[in-house]
Amino acid sequence: MSVPHYRFHIAGEWVDSSRRREIRNPATGELVATVAMGTTENVDQAVAAAKAAHEAGEWRRTPPEKRAALLHAVADRVEGRAQELAILQTRENGATIRVTSALHLGLSLGHLRYLADLARTYRFERPGPAIGPIPAEGVLRREPLGVVAAIVPWNIPLLVTVWKVAPALAAGNTVVLKPDEQAPLIALELAREFEAAGLPPGVLNVVTGDGDPVGAHLCCHPDVRKVAFTGSTEVGRSILAASADTVKRVTLELGGKGPNIILADADLDLAVDGALFAALANNGQACEAGTRLLVPSALQDEIVRRLVARAATLRLGDPLDPATDVGPVISERQRDRIVGYLESARADGATIACGGGVPSGPPFRSGHWVEPTVVTGVSHQSAIAREEVFGPVLTVLPYESTEQAVAIANDSDYGLSAGVWSRDEERALDIARQLEAGMVYVNDWHVIPPAYPFGGFKQSGLGREGGPDALDEYTEAKFISLDRSGGLE
Ligand code: NAD
Repeated sequence: MSVPHYRFHIAGEWVDSSRRREIRNPATGELVATVAMGTTENVDQAVAAAKAAHEAGEWRRTPPEKRAALLHAVADRVEGRAQELAILQTRENGATIRVTSALHLGLSLGHLRYLADLARTYRFERPGPAIGPIPAEGVLRREPLGVVAAIVPWNIPLLVTVWKVAPALAAGNTVVLKPDEQAPLIALELAREFEAAGLPPGVLNVVTGDGDPVGAHLCCHPDVRKVAFTGSTEVGRSILAASADTVKRVTLELGGKGPNIILADADLDLAVDGALFAALANNGQACEAGTRLLVPSALQDEIVRRLVARAATLRLGDPLDPATDVGPVISERQRDRIVGYLESARADGATIACGGGVPSGPPFRSGHWVEPTVVTGVSHQSAIAREEVFGPVLTVLPYESTEQAVAIANDSDYGLSAGVWSRDEERALDIARQLEAGMVYVNDWHVIPPAYPFGGFKQSGLGREGGPDALDEYTEAKFISLDRSGGLE
């Protein structure tokens, strides 16, 4: 079977490039596709197309209900291909087929439809209160920004793309999307569906390519009004700096190191299952993963024993097999980075309670594998307990009192997700209120409902995605006063 080649999309045209990148299945090394790699000139063309489409005004003047209908039409088209696209996503980034079906496709479609509906209910213009003491009235408007750059990572690319492209378009903006170079295919498939659903040319443009120069060039382009970015905190900082010159609006969804607190009264079976789910879902490559497990010191041995027993039942292997629980990590580089963290933890005296290995015999001969791993015996100041490992690794940290648990949980530059396990909902809620995190899960994890905001405190980000106010991030507020006094005082 021939390997498909993907081109990118500018002003309604599919554009090729002399430079190509191979997209290989992280489980097998199989060549999945090749993709055209864009240049800074392509970015200039895409921004010019998006700017021209914005200025022509067809899309921003399209009634919001019609914009919503188009987004729903895209959702229908993607839903019709959900199984095929879930398989493509699994082959592209190695997430298990259960996760790509339920999370990457299923959840993304729910979010897409919710964000589409926001266009129908959003108050783009409304009368404000009377302006005293002069006889004047005010009008409150929310207007599209213009050209929005959306830069997305490889780990959950469809959901993250939807979080940016859907509210931007619902609000009447035009977009240049930069997918991650390691997993760009799903974004290009989405662009195909927007085109097929009748989105005018130039309203959504996609340029595939490396972070630097393609992403970096977008972030300092004078005609880009906003950058919506998801990725590492390190790149997020550079984007914030690059956006300063032209005072771009910026939203950032960055890394995390989610603290997960098991209280002494928790249902331990549920909490242990939940702790592994929090840390290992999406092969441990989720920004809002729960990777620091805080346990009462008196229960540490019992909880670790149960974690090890439960982890032994997890199946590492072919992510296309519905029985598989954990698949490969995205790349050799990412695998080596994870192994580096484990080696430095060992050197610091850590105990690897289970996992820690890099299987390489059949069926793991090709691909990038790390066993589900539980680490104990490290200080909460150690690198493995503070930094984002981004792999199937859970670090267990003991605490003496709930005050200490909260203090350790909050002693982090990150603040994306957190969790509490307890049979006492009031107590859990009290702790949840004290945690510095954008999302706190009580007796669960990875709860990402469309009607709630997603994003982080501290260095986990800036702004929020999704939720009822999603369109605020993609519009400017304007106040118009109508003075009826007939004078200037
Ligand atoms: P990354 O920051 O290296 O890359 C993300 C995107 O930024 C890619 O498209 C990349 O090409 C682009 N990029 C790289 N350098 C750039 C530059 N100088 N200017 C502009 N764009 C540039 O991220 P990664 O390591 O590939 O992805 C994983 C990270 O993403 C993790 O830290 C994870 O926590 C984070 N993430 C966060 C969320 C969230 O919502 N908070 C969701 C998913 C992933």
